[in-house]
Amino acid sequence: MTADETLAERPAAAAVGEPALVGLVRSAVAEAAPVRAPAVADVALYAPRQKIYPQRVHGTFRRIKWAILFVTLGIYYLLPFVRWDRGHGVPGQAVLLDLQGGRFYFFFIEIWPQEIYYVTGLLVIAAMTLFLMNALAGRVWCGYLCPQTVWTDLFQSIERWTEGDRREHLRRDQQAWTADRIARAAAKHFLWLMVAWWTGGAWVLYFADAPTLVKDLATFQAPLVAYAWIGILTFTTYALAGHMREQVCLYMCPWPRIQASLTDEHAFNVTYRYDRGEPRGSYKKAVALRAKGELAGDCVDCLQCVVVCPTGVDIRNGASLGCVQCGLCIDACDAVMTKIGRPTRLIAYDTDVNIKRREAGQPPVFKTVRVRTVLYAAIIAIIAGLMLYTLATRHAEGIAVIHDRNPIFVRLSDGAIRNAYTVRLLNKSRELRRFLLTAEGLADGLVEVVGDTQSPMGYPRVEVGPDQTREVRVLVTSYEHLPPAASVPLTFHAIDLETRQAATATDFFKGP
Ligand code: SF4
Ligand code: SF4
Repeated sequence: MTADETLAERPAAAAVGEPALVGLVRSAVAEAAPVRAPAVADVALYAPRQKIYPQRVHGTFRRIKWAILFVTLGIYYLLPFVRWDRGHGVPGQAVLLDLQGGRFYFFFIEIWPQEIYYVTGLLVIAAMTLFLMNALAGRVWCGYLCPQTVWTDLFQSIERWTEGDRREHLRRDQQAWTADRIARAAAKHFLWLMVAWWTGGAWVLYFADAPTLVKDLATFQAPLVAYAWIGILTFTTYALAGHMREQVCLYMCPWPRIQASLTDEHAFNVTYRYDRGEPRGSYKKAVALRAKGELAGDCVDCLQCVVVCPTGVDIRNGASLGCVQCGLCIDACDAVMTKIGRPTRLIAYDTDVNIKRREAGQPPVFKTVRVRTVLYAAIIAIIAGLMLYTLATRHAEGIAVIHDRNPIFVRLSDGAIRNAYTVRLLNKSRELRRFLLTAEGLADGLVEVVGDTQSPMGYPRVEVGPDQTREVRVLVTSYEHLPPAASVPLTFHAIDLETRQAATATDFFKGP
């Protein structure tokens, strides 16, 4: 037998459960004659995609998925049109990422670019929430909330509506291209493109005043970048939700790999209760076995759980990367169990630990409070608490100081030492404000703002326009006798002359 013939034997080896490569190596070693190493091109490394035709299903989890789909997509598509009155001259859109103005508006919250740490905090909370969800209920995010799942679900529903349910669609796909088939396929792709286009369109509305942008888009007066983003997102939505579907979860998304290392035996996952389902067999066979007093599992091997699965997984084979935990197989199996008069939830949300306990005749245990869940919840609570506290107590003014690097100081002709700083004052309010600038730390420190001829000596006043920052050059001069290489801490204050609210920043006064 040659190596090529050995390769031809590969499917047979795999069919009896022997891994293909192991079978290949064993056969090759058994050959006495020298063998040629198989060319890489001879070995199929990837199996072609099997198109999935998920069947329509009804039940509790399907209803939950519908409700989540309508709520999440409703929020996404309509939120840009929600108005929020912030006063004259300020954007009135409830949620707006104003890149030109450098603001993020979220209802009553307004975030400046300097406050990017709030976004960091939100990202950490999002990650911890994902971890917590995973510790409690496995891939519940993947099954119900992930945008890829939600849009794929919508696209599959459109497909069923236009091309028929599983059987009808399968049958059509095997037929020649008739006028009816062409019309149905065209309708499907048109509707997919409409949804994809509206998805891209809604995205850009978060970056400008939505009603105005809609008008500009319709009259072709919107900026080119808006059309470009709509085009990109239309294409990605159409490709990911319409064509790639479960392949995104299987090959592109890192989360299934990460979550596998974060779960434990107490997490609820969609589980086939093999302790109840096996030995599986036809309904008639099971009835006959039970009549004889012999053991028969509840699974009647009808494959309903497989044909409704949007990723084509057979949940009875155990946990797998392809299972997004959507729960639709629970609905399908429940319908079968109801029909044959057996208890429902042969497939159910269950934990590994409880399956083992049931097998051992022990009562189930539910441990939602565990070290990891407490830890995740605590991190979420701490970060959310800190963010709320800083939001509630944050000031409408700010100051940032940078000491000149070169020269660090200069000695004046009268012997005084002078340090120079760049000071940035921040006014987050909607009114013009006047700040008194002081520097505390030197007994005789004289503060001046370069170019300011109006303020009294030593008491510079700086005006900052509404919702603006202003950068000024500040000189601090001292006649104080300082020790060699002195570095005196200086505290700069920007005090609002009307409200007396103050912002503070620290730096140093350097001596020779
Ligand atoms: S739907 Fe239920 S009974 Fe049918 S094959 Fe799946 S697990 Fe078995
Ligand atoms: S196996 Fe069940 S829970 Fe998993 S993806 Fe398929 S239908 Fe959803």
